[in-house]
Amino acid sequence: MDTDTGIDYGTFEEGRHVNYWELDQTLQRELRRVYTGDEFDWAESRLSAFGETVGHTIADNADDIDDHGPELEPYDKYGEVQNWVRYPEKQYENERLAYGQGIVADSFEAPPGRDEPMPLSHNLAMQYLLSYADPGFDCPVAMTAGAALVLEKFSREGEDDVLREYYDALTSRDYEDLIEGAMFLTEKQGGSDVGANETRAEWDESAGYWRLTGEKWFCSNIDAEGTLALARTEDAPAGTAGLSMFLVPHGDPDSTNHDSDRDRDRDDPLTKGQRREDGPLSPEDVNDQRYRRLKDKLGTISVPTGEVEFTGAKAYLVGEEEHGFRQMAEMLNLERLSNAAASCGIIGRVLLESKIYAANREAFGETIDQYPLMRADLVDMAVTHEAATTYTFEAARLLSKRERAARAGETADDAYRLMRLLIPIAKARTARIAVDTASYGMEIHGGNGYVNEFVTNRLLRDAQVLPIWEGTENILSLDVLRALERENAHEPLQAAISERLEYVSHPALADAAATVEGEFHDLMGALATLAGEDSEYAQLSAKRLAHYVFDVFTAAVLLERAQRDLAAEDENGRLALVANHFVSRELTDQEARGITSGDRFALEAYESIVRYESVTAEGAREIVAESE
Ligand SMILES: Cc1cc2nc3c(=O)[nH]c(=O)nc-3n(C[C@H](O)[C@H](O)[C@H](O)COP(=O)(O)OP(=O)(O)OC[C@H]3O[C@@H](n4cnc5c(N)ncnc54)[C@H](O)[C@@H]3O)c2cc1C
Repeated sequence: MDTDTGIDYGTFEEGRHVNYWELDQTLQRELRRVYTGDEFDWAESRLSAFGETVGHTIADNADDIDDHGPELEPYDKYGEVQNWVRYPEKQYENERLAYGQGIVADSFEAPPGRDEPMPLSHNLAMQYLLSYADPGFDCPVAMTAGAALVLEKFSREGEDDVLREYYDALTSRDYEDLIEGAMFLTEKQGGSDVGANETRAEWDESAGYWRLTGEKWFCSNIDAEGTLALARTEDAPAGTAGLSMFLVPHGDPDSTNHDSDRDRDRDDPLTKGQRREDGPLSPEDVNDQRYRRLKDKLGTISVPTGEVEFTGAKAYLVGEEEHGFRQMAEMLNLERLSNAAASCGIIGRVLLESKIYAANREAFGETIDQYPLMRADLVDMAVTHEAATTYTFEAARLLSKRERAARAGETADDAYRLMRLLIPIAKARTARIAVDTASYGMEIHGGNGYVNEFVTNRLLRDAQVLPIWEGTENILSLDVLRALERENAHEPLQAAISERLEYVSHPALADAAATVEGEFHDLMGALATLAGEDSEYAQLSAKRLAHYVFDVFTAAVLLERAQRDLAAEDENGRLALVANHFVSRELTDQEARGITSGDRFALEAYESIVRYESVTAEGAREIVAESE
């Protein structure tokens, strides 16, 4: 690939049977900055190998799985409960490939050639690449990592031996030993309102287990062996304060007879590979729960989402009683960033498909990428992809920093306080952007985009759940208010933005930096105003505030990155163009909506922003100057 002349998207037929890592220079750039020490050098070849696998086998399989997804057989032929989910063979193959390449394991256990685990941002980068092809399968991957994180934090060495075995199985690199995670929070009466959960947990002395009774209404990866569920113990207080966390295995943990060919002890987690080989459990081996039905969903077909009725299911307490919600919040931070990474992956795939389609489709005698409006569309989409990815991996960097500190027995308070603010916003903004981008990408494909044989159809269906699960945009906006109130998160935010703006000095960035400086000042004023307002007013403004933080923070980070690129030995002006466009689109007041400005920026910057063609610092400065 020649970076001087950029990528010729006309040489591809579609965004499949390619290497997603090699083609996504935006992700490459971000990871180069986010990884520390020699992490990037180690990771590059593995990410490239993964990008190749996802771009070929996983992408092909994902399309087939969308047509023939997992099916539930709740009962056997005698009417006994068996809770059997039948997966297509191609799904087992995708799982084997993704987990085998360390998508979860590498961030928890030192991978070959390294002394310590990779940061969680590595897991998120792989989730991003996976979501180019199968955002549905990314859901179990995300929950497997999330469940592992929770068990790592809250199972006590020496005391929770069984949970340590589940942790080992969740983080296994070997598919034969691997189990997946899930999280069952939502009940009919409460998805956003988790405190309304009614599922009960009672200690069964004779069995030596907790037993769960109640209904869960949305359970993705329904048959996961490493499912974490929230339930209320006897006499627990109302609301979230009374919730405890339990691990509820798919199979009855006491039973070994479904496993006749193997050496399986009581409490050994039942792996998915075993289930694939052995088939449905016999009814006496089923944990006491009923998988009622799978939801008939719009998209994310590869993850079976269903309704579960606990009828005394055996369960292990995780962490401390009545600490369940706080513990689940740790998992949610990672899940929400996973959602953001998946959103960015979808945006990346839509962008790639759109560039390729536009470079090949002819209308009115030219390929459609020659027309001004299409160029403006693709510039907009590429800048949106840059913004979403930059913001997400900045938040991922903070999460990784905090987790790394925790593993070393240290704290990283500022990283935590800032990430508490940035993560709900990352999830909310990127999810909405993914839906909008997938929708517009469909339009770029004309009528074909609406047809099932084109991946744009599935990407839009898959994207549509991203704003809903892991918290809707309203709920996340309220969480932003909580982060500001409880963590004083405006302090690290202020420091993070000022530090970046102070670093920016290049003339190609001067006007954009001045605009961001002004908006930064106004944002801080808005935060101060809201702090003094009543809750009703604060709630009314919460979503606008979340958008504002996203725009100003992203702009500051893009400017800082652009400054580095301009000042580097192998100077590169592309990000300066990206940053200028983002600032002018999101933060600059335009007279007459920009129509009278004479600005032809999208045409001048097209080759660089869309095709990654090299542009010098001086070249970028000239393009920016002409557009003013
Ligand atoms: C495909 C799919 C898979 C899922 N998988 C899982 C899973 O594996 N585990 C799990 O636990 N859950 C899962 N969910 C559930 C999901 O997390 C919830 O649906 C979601 O959190 C919203 O909750 P709800 O459906 O109860 O909606 P509600 O809470 O009823 O919300 C309805 C609307 O009201 C708004 N709203 C609610 N409260 C407020 C407020 N205070 N202010 C302003 N607006 C408000 C919300 O933003 C939303 O727009 C899944 C959902 C889907 C669609």
